[in-house]
Amino acid sequence: MKRRFAKTAALFAVITILLSFTACNDRTATGEYFDVFGTTLYIEGYSAEEAQSAAAVMREAELLLSADIPSSDIGRINSAAAGESVTVSGLTMTLLLKAREVYLLTDGAYDPSVYPLVELWGFAPGDFVMGIAPDSLPTDGEIAAASELVGFDRAFSLDADALTVTKLTDGAKLDLGGIAKGYAVQNSLAGFSDETLVNLGGNIGGVGRDYTIGIGAPREYTHSYIGTLTLHSGECVSTSGDYERYYFFDGVRYHHIIDPSDGRPADSGLISVTVVCRDGALGDALSTAIAVAGEEKGREWLDALSADHPEISAVFVDGDMNVSVYGRGFSAV
Ligand code: ADP
Ligand code: MG
Repeated sequence: MKRRFAKTAALFAVITILLSFTACNDRTATGEYFDVFGTTLYIEGYSAEEAQSAAAVMREAELLLSADIPSSDIGRINSAAAGESVTVSGLTMTLLLKAREVYLLTDGAYDPSVYPLVELWGFAPGDFVMGIAPDSLPTDGEIAAASELVGFDRAFSLDADALTVTKLTDGAKLDLGGIAKGYAVQNSLAGFSDETLVNLGGNIGGVGRDYTIGIGAPREYTHSYIGTLTLHSGECVSTSGDYERYYFFDGVRYHHIIDPSDGRPADSGLISVTVVCRDGALGDALSTAIAVAGEEKGREWLDALSADHPEISAVFVDGDMNVSVYGRGFSAV
């Protein structure tokens, strides 16, 4: 309870700021809050029924996708032994295939098999309490051992037709935390008949009109803005940063986005990355990957994607609060 409250409280700070920029023109919207995917879902639209049914669909997805629910598809995969084939739902397979695409595109900067490292650093959902440091940091030996388990193509094999996932390395574990919320938001948009804005823990999608979304400043500036983004109907926006889940140990910040190449919290020079894309899952995973690998790599990947996703755009913030932009739609304050 304590954990969930702390996380929800932290996310509320971000959400409230974001939504103060989205007041509707001349109609009265209804807002509905739900507790989904370990975070707060806020739906601002014109139909409570549609909001409730979107939340119910997201809860079903959570029951399949969450690593910290033992009976979920991902929970069952994580507790399976090497060589065991686990049958999963079509939705889980769809998302694993999407995750694999981003894993390949980003040379493993986004890696859904990163969970052993997420656990080692104390960021598994059941262990982490916002701002509370563990008693000790992982040793180099522990980091090396956990890193041996990470590498999606090495550790898992997918059979898309049979809907099975087979673990190849004992102890390997999956974590869709970097992609599932973006997917869930995008997937919900088709269910709204009128202007609606969906915010799942900072992953936002809108339908029915354009929205102006405030991008909260990272870290200690969380209560101010770096600027606003225009979100067109059907687009989603996701932000990844080192200030959402973190602790300080001996004055050093350790955060929840792990660089699979060295097994440590990412240190790419970027402290916040925001990606806009019609494909919410892709945008979510890409924001995580760019937070890992930095702006230069990020721009290469965005270039590679922009033929298929002409709307794709991004906002990068570095440790000195310098803001730079890829694509369109961003206005600095
Ligand atoms: P949030 O979930 O806070 O919105 P992200 O979308 O960036 O932020 O996802 C971060 C989550 O993704 C982490 O909490 C962890 O579960 C998982 N994760 C951490 N590092 C990676 C990585 N390199 N690749 C894939 N997933 C990651
Ligand atoms: Mg992400």
